[in-house]
Amino acid sequence: MRTILLGPPGAGKGTQAKILIEHYGIPQLSTGDILRQAIAEGTELGLAARKIMDEGGLVSDDIVNGIISERLDHDDCKPGFVLDGFPRTIPQADALEAMLANKDMPLDAVVWMYADRDVLIERILKRASEAAVARGDDNIESIKKRLEVYRQQTEPLVFHYQDKGLLKVVNGMDPIEEVTRRIRHVLEFKVPA
Ligand code: AMP
Repeated sequence: MRTILLGPPGAGKGTQAKILIEHYGIPQLSTGDILRQAIAEGTELGLAARKIMDEGGLVSDDIVNGIISERLDHDDCKPGFVLDGFPRTIPQADALEAMLANKDMPLDAVVWMYADRDVLIERILKRASEAAVARGDDNIESIKKRLEVYRQQTEPLVFHYQDKGLLKVVNGMDPIEEVTRRIRHVLEFKVPA
């Protein structure tokens, strides 16, 4: 199963990715997690990414493309993967397409988890208040910026993947178990949820 979870910040992509990888026995490839890990370890990558992430901007396409290309070569990706937070721009989607064609790993589906802006803001603020260690970008200014960046740069991917016949749509505002059920349904039966 090779799939992308697409959606705005706070849609629940990370939560659903974790449930899906458990179920299908495949890895979650999250550029956000990999970048946060790099920041925690104080690597050069982390140093380059930190300020941009805290401000809610996007790390450069070259950096994230490189991270994913390298990660896809690990053996655990052979049976499939769940991409979470990548691609986020059309150039990233084009780069991914070239990588996957090269590696003979065609995508099965792209799941778009949509949610209203108010719900997203509320969820991210709740996540921030409950976290043991707060994310540097879970504050109201950064959240607004991330939503705007999503609208401008990432949402066009919905139409991009629709044109390719890969798009599946799921309401990300439903309860977690219901969203999981619908995602599994669209992935396994290849019919609308
Ligand atoms: P996330 O955990 O997916 O919400 O990502 C957190 C932050 O990491 C984003 O706001 C970006 O600054 C950065 N980031 C994660 N994935 C990407 C990506 N595919 N392209 C550019 N920046 C990214």
